[in-house]
Amino acid sequence: MQITALILLFIIIGWIFWYTKKKPQGTISFPESFRTILLKHVHFYNLLTDADKSAFEKRMLQFLDHVKITGIGVMVKEEDKVFIAASALIPIFFFDNWEYNNLNEVLLYPDSFSEEFELQKDKERPVLGMVGNGPMQHVMILSQAALREGFLKESGTQNTAIHEFVHLIDKTDGDINGIPENILSRQYIIPWINRMHEEIREIREGNSDINPYGATNQGEFFAVVSEYFFEKPAELNSKHPELYKILQKIFNNDNGKPFVER
Ligand SMILES: [Zn+2]
Repeated sequence: MQITALILLFIIIGWIFWYTKKKPQGTISFPESFRTILLKHVHFYNLLTDADKSAFEKRMLQFLDHVKITGIGVMVKEEDKVFIAASALIPIFFFDNWEYNNLNEVLLYPDSFSEEFELQKDKERPVLGMVGNGPMQHVMILSQAALREGFLKESGTQNTAIHEFVHLIDKTDGDINGIPENILSRQYIIPWINRMHEEIREIREGNSDINPYGATNQGEFFAVVSEYFFEKPAELNSKHPELYKILQKIFNNDNGKPFVER
């Protein structure tokens, strides 16, 4: 009887050793199907070097491990997971240690919704994405249709999910005011505010190709031009070089890792 117990104990210990050796933490391989989606639809990923592509994949898995994605009346498919994680990573990819401590869950709605998170089809101002407040703190709401359109639509400068993640980054210093104090060095704050006001004026005067929604306020301006920056960097650089330069500073993208169209 004692021998049987001893043998059993050895088997258990052996199994634990084998199991922990076989599945060390953090080495879960990146699904090939995710990579296929990235290569096909995520422009930013395709601009990265091979080493950066691997880093991007690793951080995507970390994000998906930390943030829950829940469908509200929709099935969450693989492409939704890839697009959400990619949108989260794109704006902070050039900061090595950034984590979204202000986000636990992303709710995916089929289409647009109201500010009270009710589904709506035909109101004047449909909401396609939102960063939660109050009881919805740490929750982001996205329209599945808008999420997909941001990546599947060819050659656009708009991307709803990137827009919302930029709001979330902006919000980490307390408010969404277009000034991301946690990532922007002090010396660039005044030049950035001046640049925002200049570009907003141009939009209001009808002399700009930037999405007019960006002229709503500084917070929306920052989110809208960030979409443009990550979706069409070369175009932004040629049409708004000053704006492009300062966005490179904001997103820490001017230190030996130039993010340019190749
Ligand atoms: Zn917004």
